[in-house]
Amino acid sequence: MNLIDVVKEFPTDEECLKYIEQMRWPDGKVRCTVCGNDHISRITRKSQTKNVRKSIYQCLEPTCKQQFSATSGTIFNDSHLPLNKWFMALAIVVDAKKSISANQLKEHLGIGSYRTAWYMAHRIRKAMEDNSGSLLHGDVELDETYIGGKSKRRGKKRTEKPLAERFDLVLGMRERKGRVKFVHVKDGKLDTIRKAVSEHVNPSSRRIITDSAVLYKFAFHSHLKQRHYMVNHEKEWIVPGTDIHTNTIESAFSLLKRGLIGSFHRVTIKHLHRYLSEFEFRWNIRKDTDRFSTTLQRMLGIPPMPYAELIGEPKA
Ligand SMILES: [Zn+2]
Repeated sequence: MNLIDVVKEFPTDEECLKYIEQMRWPDGKVRCTVCGNDHISRITRKSQTKNVRKSIYQCLEPTCKQQFSATSGTIFNDSHLPLNKWFMALAIVVDAKKSISANQLKEHLGIGSYRTAWYMAHRIRKAMEDNSGSLLHGDVELDETYIGGKSKRRGKKRTEKPLAERFDLVLGMRERKGRVKFVHVKDGKLDTIRKAVSEHVNPSSRRIITDSAVLYKFAFHSHLKQRHYMVNHEKEWIVPGTDIHTNTIESAFSLLKRGLIGSFHRVTIKHLHRYLSEFEFRWNIRKDTDRFSTTLQRMLGIPPMPYAELIGEPKA
């Protein structure tokens, strides 16, 4: 479903809510979002207020009696935006290869404030986070890029630390013919890289392939070190006569780099992980024929993210 389909099929909140209901309760049995009981009754309200659902449910379990709708307990929960704007936003973000800024979203959708559009975009990104914990395996390519070249301390004398210790680093890891993973690491020190790799790459992967950047030379535990292959980009893009190259991570990475630079003039390091999730997710579902529904399903599966939580400091 692309933006045009979404606009056509979901012109009002009612159609959106019906679709969400089908997704949330595919067997047609509406269940209480608090106690899971299916003994419920439907209530129709005549409210004209935008953020009050006209059709809600009442749980008939005497100890519960919760009133709920299909969006209760999901990331849509406390939003005052009409659902059809959410649907359009989702269709735009899911297909925007280089992503889209909150300002663009605000203008495309006629949303009142930048803050609302920004909050909306971050809630969509939140749904794109990979919490599966599954590790990359097989042939895994690794590459890196530096973020934060324009530090606040610009103008002051640069410290003499090596590049890898001065800037925030994004590691890109890609299983050949498989998933990509973008990870924000605080520096390029040996321990940091080693930790990131062991968190995301299966220790029994067949090969790990990088360029000859110095940060990789000592970054792997011994079991991976034996299977570490390098291509020297000063000399060549592929080791002649082999399939040792990092071309497939670089193609996934180039979209991220172009997107982060092109769509966002500033990305706060605090929120960087969510942008990375977005690019990673979009790449990983690029062959999905209904990316819209796949992403919507995930949005229904995650709890609300209050604004205060979004702007608060990340948990250590
Ligand atoms: Zn209940």
